[in-house]
Amino acid sequence: MCGIIGYVGKENALPKITEGLSVLEYRGYDSVGLAARMKSKTAIIKCKGRIEALKESLRYSDIHESNCSIGHTRWATHGGPSDVNAHPHRYGKTVIVHNGIIENYKDLQKRFSVDPISETDTEVATAVIDHFYCQCQTPVKAIKEAVAQFEGSYAFGVMFDDIPDEIYAVRQGSPLLIANATDGNYISSDLTAVLSFTNRYYSLDEGDVARISAGSV
Ligand code: GLU
Repeated sequence: MCGIIGYVGKENALPKITEGLSVLEYRGYDSVGLAARMKSKTAIIKCKGRIEALKESLRYSDIHESNCSIGHTRWATHGGPSDVNAHPHRYGKTVIVHNGIIENYKDLQKRFSVDPISETDTEVATAVIDHFYCQCQTPVKAIKEAVAQFEGSYAFGVMFDDIPDEIYAVRQGSPLLIANATDGNYISSDLTAVLSFTNRYYSLDEGDVARISAGSV
């Protein structure tokens, strides 16, 4: 299990996410990535290997400014370390970073007819959340219905393509906290990743779904 950091707020999220990811390095990881909301799309950039490689790719990309972003360091449990298996994963309109293991992902893949491009349990979980989101268009309800299908442990940071300025979070058996700063709000799996930004934080209760925007949680 590795690391999650997310930020939505008034300032540019990208330096905050890359700094948070660097702090999470001490936990060990095999790949790294982030999703960043741009004007008209949610961009994903990710790779096998080190954060320095991600930062280098960011420098040469068009992803320079974003007010809403989630980042991840991966320690592979399902599917080896590779660019494709790195997080975030996208399925339909749903973009996810995940710590933990969805034990019943093979069964979910069959039940929800998921056609994944990666070998990860996470992409199947993304597809299940997207399935319910397409049905009800209500993020909290969709996430609740999806996680009711999951067996295992998880902390998720979730973004939806048509909700540009919100991050959703849920956890069960894996740590995830919410932190408040004057310029915005964070999620993180690890307190150390947000301590340079704020010391106002609390743990998300197991099974609760949080909706996080710049001004409210
Ligand atoms: N089970 C997921 C994967 O293999 C998440 C691993 C992690 O916690 O980093 O991609």
